[in-house]
Amino acid sequence: MAQDLRKGRKQRAEGGSAIKPAPRPAAEAAPAVEPATVSSGVTPSMAQFLEIKAANPDCMLFYRMGDFYELFFEDAVAAAEALGIVLTKRGKHLGEDIPMCGVPIHRADEYLQRLITKGFRVAVCEQMEDPSEARKRGSKAVVHRDVVRLVTPGTLTEESLLDAKARNYLTAVFKGPHGSDKATVALASLDISTGEFEVGEIPAVDFPGEIVRLSPGEVMAMDSFLADGDLRKWIEIAGAAATPVPAAHFDSLAGERQLKAQLGVADLAAFGSFSRPELAAVGALLKYVELTQIGKKPCLRPPRRSGPSAHLVIDAPTRSSLELLRSTSGDKSSSLLAAIDRTVTGPGARELAARLASPLRDSDVIGDRLDAIGFLHGNETLRGDIRRALQHTPDLARALSRLALQRGAPKDLGAIRDGLAAAQSCARLLRSEGEGIGLPTALAGVCARLAGCAADLQPLLARALVDDPPHLRRDGNFVRPGFSKDLDDTRALRDQSRQVMAALEARYQQEAGIKALKVRHNNILGYYIEVPAGASKPMLSQPLSDTFRHRQTMAGATRFTTQELTETESRIVSAADRALATEHDIFAELAAAIAAEERTLGETAAALAELDCLTALAEVAVEQGYVRPVLDDGTTFEIRGGRHPVVEQALKKSSSGVFIENDCVLVASRPEIPTGFDEMTEARLWLVTGPNMAGKSTFLRQNALIAVLAQMGSFVPARSAHIGIVDRLFSRVGAADDLARGRSTFMVEMVETAGILNQATSRSLVILDEIGRGTATFDGLSIAWAVVEHLHEINACRALFATHYHELTALAGRLSQIANVTVDVREWRDEIVFLHKVKAGAADRSYGIQVAKLAGLPKPVTRRAAEVLALLEKSDGKAGDRAALLNELPLFAAARPKSHVPDESGPSPAEEALAAINPDELTPKAALEILYKLKDLARKERRYRAC
Ligand code: ADP
Repeated sequence: MAQDLRKGRKQRAEGGSAIKPAPRPAAEAAPAVEPATVSSGVTPSMAQFLEIKAANPDCMLFYRMGDFYELFFEDAVAAAEALGIVLTKRGKHLGEDIPMCGVPIHRADEYLQRLITKGFRVAVCEQMEDPSEARKRGSKAVVHRDVVRLVTPGTLTEESLLDAKARNYLTAVFKGPHGSDKATVALASLDISTGEFEVGEIPAVDFPGEIVRLSPGEVMAMDSFLADGDLRKWIEIAGAAATPVPAAHFDSLAGERQLKAQLGVADLAAFGSFSRPELAAVGALLKYVELTQIGKKPCLRPPRRSGPSAHLVIDAPTRSSLELLRSTSGDKSSSLLAAIDRTVTGPGARELAARLASPLRDSDVIGDRLDAIGFLHGNETLRGDIRRALQHTPDLARALSRLALQRGAPKDLGAIRDGLAAAQSCARLLRSEGEGIGLPTALAGVCARLAGCAADLQPLLARALVDDPPHLRRDGNFVRPGFSKDLDDTRALRDQSRQVMAALEARYQQEAGIKALKVRHNNILGYYIEVPAGASKPMLSQPLSDTFRHRQTMAGATRFTTQELTETESRIVSAADRALATEHDIFAELAAAIAAEERTLGETAAALAELDCLTALAEVAVEQGYVRPVLDDGTTFEIRGGRHPVVEQALKKSSSGVFIENDCVLVASRPEIPTGFDEMTEARLWLVTGPNMAGKSTFLRQNALIAVLAQMGSFVPARSAHIGIVDRLFSRVGAADDLARGRSTFMVEMVETAGILNQATSRSLVILDEIGRGTATFDGLSIAWAVVEHLHEINACRALFATHYHELTALAGRLSQIANVTVDVREWRDEIVFLHKVKAGAADRSYGIQVAKLAGLPKPVTRRAAEVLALLEKSDGKAGDRAALLNELPLFAAARPKSHVPDESGPSPAEEALAAINPDELTPKAALEILYKLKDLARKERRYRAC
C-alpha cells in the first residue's frame, strides 16, 4: 500500500509555482529540461530546480527541501510507482498540476536502495547553506543547492545499501582493437566502499569467467562494447548494471596521471608494469568516480594485479556448475562458500569470498597461506582468542571510505577507534604466541600491519568519543565530556539555561497567581508562556500586562512572552549552537587525524580481514577434519579419501547417512599405495561409469572443489591430497538450456565443450559429465568418443569423464593414459543399492530401469521397459534385427497383466521359505540344502520381476 510520507511535514519557507513540465516518459525517470526554458517565466526556486535537473538528465533528482528529498515531474511519477509512495502535486504549470513525491531524509537510504536495485541512478541535491543565510539576502532569495553525489549501483558506501559480506566493485572494461587474433580485455575494478582496487588484462575469450569472478555491481564500457549482445549477457549474468561511457574517457595518459596522483607516487613501477589498455581502463574508472563523487576522492588501496598468470582461470560455466559462491539457482546457502565460511566479521567474509573466487597459481604464496592455517589449526587457544577479539569488530575499511568521501558520521569515528583496539589486541595475541618460535610468514605480515598504525590515534579517539557514537553528526552529543574544556563550558551554559527556564516558570506562576501557567517551546514561536483561556484575563490588564506581552490567542489557551524570556531563550539557543559548532570542529579534527593515517589504516583493515579469513579456514579445517594439501609444479592429482564439502555437511545436518570418501589418482605421484587406501588405477584420464544416482557427479565435482580449495590456500576435505598446480579448471556438469539466447541444451553443451577442447592445456583439470547426451545415441557416442581422444592426445590434461556410453570403456584398452572406474552398486532382490564407492573397472550395465523404479515409475511401465530392453539386448547391436524383434513385441495393452506374475503384495516364495526355517533344528547338511534352495528361489523371483 502506498504510504503517505508527508504527514507531520513542516511548513517550508519556499514556494514553487509555474514550472515547465518535463518532456520525458516516466520510465526514463527524468524530465529533459532545456536550458533555454529555465530563465523564462518560472520562479527563482523552480528555475534552480530545472537547471540542476538539466545538468543531470540521466538521474532521478533527490532535491533537498528541509527534512525531505522531493522529486518532481516524471521523476515523481516513476519514484512513486517504484517505491509505492503517495504521488501528490505542488502548484501548476500551464494549467497542469506538477506531480511531486518525497522521502524523509532519515529514510532516504532505504528508498535509495530500492531505487538502485530497480536500476535507477539518483543525483542527490543538497542545501549548501542554512535557509537563514539565504533569508539574509532577501525574502525572495533561494537557498543555494547543488548535487553532491550521483548514486549508482557501483558507487555505494552506506552500510544500509551494501551487503556486509560482499564486495561491490565498479569495473571499467576496455577492449583493444577488433579483429586481432590475440584480442585482450583490460579491466580495472574499485570497491569505493573499501578502496579495494584490482587491475588486469586477460585474453578476450576469458572475459565471461573474469566478469563472473569479479561480480561487480556496475560495469562501465564503451557503447560499442555494450552493443555486443553476448558480452552484455555475461555482464547481466554477473549481476552488474551496465553503464555506457564515452570513448574519450578511456584515456591511458590521463589514467596514468590520475593513478600516480591518487597513489601519491611519481612512478608506478612499485606496483608492477601496467599496459596501455589497463591504464585506459583505470582512466575511465577514475574519471567516473570523479564525476559521481563530484570531485571527492575515495580511498585507493595499492592495486592488486590479476590475470591468467596469477590466478587459476575458471570459466563462467565452470564457476556456475561448481556453485562456488552461489548455487545455480542463485541461492547462497548451498554454495561452497557457505559450507566453509566461519568468519566472524563482514570484511573477513569478503576476503574469504574473494580468495575462493580467485584461487592462485603461485605455490609459494599458497604455501604461505597454508602455513598460517596450519599454525592456527594447531593452536586452539590462539584461534579462540583471535575469534573472540574479532567478533564485534566494526568494518574499518568501509568507515574509512565514508570519511574519505566526506560522508562519515560519528559512528564511523567510533568504528575506527574500535577497529584499532581490536587490531592492537590481535597483534598482542600473535606477538606473544610467536615469541621464540616465530610466526609463519603470512601471520608475521598480518601482525606487522596490525601493529603498524600511529600509536596515538586510538587513544585520541577513545578520549574524544562517547562509548556509542550516534549515526548523525548534526545532532551532536558524540564528544565525551572532559575532552574539550571549551565544549564542556558551553554545554554547561546550555544545560544551566534550561534549569533557568524551569525556575522562570515557577516564578511566573507565583507572580501571575496562575498554577496552570507553563513555559513551552515549539519550532515556530520558540519559547512562550501559555495559560488556559479561562485564566488569562488578569494577564491582559495592568499591572501583569507590563511584564507579560500577549502573542497569540488559541481556542483553549492564550500565549504570552516577556523580555526576560526572550533574552534567556537567545542565551540557550546560542549556547546550544556553539556547543554543536564545537563538536563539528572536533569531528573535523578527528577526521583529519584519520585522513593523515589513511594508508596505514587501510593496511590495518586489510590485515584484520585476512586474519579473520585465515582463522576461519583453520576453524573449518578442525571442525570438518580437513587436511593440508601438498602443492607443487608437477602434474599429479592424487586425492586419497576425498569428500564433497557441501554434500558431506548436508548429509551430516540431515542425519541421512555418512559421506563415503573416494580416491582419485590422475597421474600417481608414487608407485606404492599407502596403507589404508584402495588400490586405484593410475592414469591421466578416468572414464567414470555407473548408474544414475550412484554418485558420479558428486565425485567429479568434489575433485574440482578440492583443487579450488587447495589453490585458494585452504585445507581440503580428504585424508591426503597432492596436487600439481592447475592452470585452468573446466567443469561441464549437467545440462542447462539457454533459451534466452535460443540455444538448446545440446548446443550449449557443444559450445562449452568446444571452449574446453580449445583451451585446456597439459596443466589443466577437466571435469566432463555426460557429454553428447542431447542427441541420437550414435551421434552422442561418436562425439563423446572423439572428445575423449582429443583430451587424451591433444590437450593431454588431467580429466574425469563420466559417461553412460559403456562402449567408451573400450578406449581404456586402446589409449595408454585412460583408465576405467565405476561407482559401485549392489543389486538386492532386484532393487538397486548405491554404495557410492569408486572402484577400478567399468559398470556392467546402466540399471536405468531399477533407478526408474526407485523414482516411482508405475510398475507396468518398468516391466514393459524390461521387456523392450531384453529384446534390444538380444539384437546384438544390429539395427535390422532390432527393428524386426521390436515388431514382434506384443502390444502394451496385450502384454498386461501377466498371469504368471506373482502377487507382490504378499511374501515372496523365498521369504516364505525363510520364514519356515528354524535354524536351531537344522543339521549342517540341511542348512546347506536350504541355502541352495533359497538361492534358486531368489533367482527365479528376479526373473519374474524382470519380465
Ligand atoms: P549421479 O551423478 O551418478 O547420478 P549424484 O552424484 O548426483 O549421482 O549423486 C546422487 C546422490 O547420491 C547425491 O545427491 C548424494 O546425496 C548421494 N551421494 C553421492 N555420492 C555420495 C557419497 N560419496 N557418499 C554418500 N552419498 C553420496
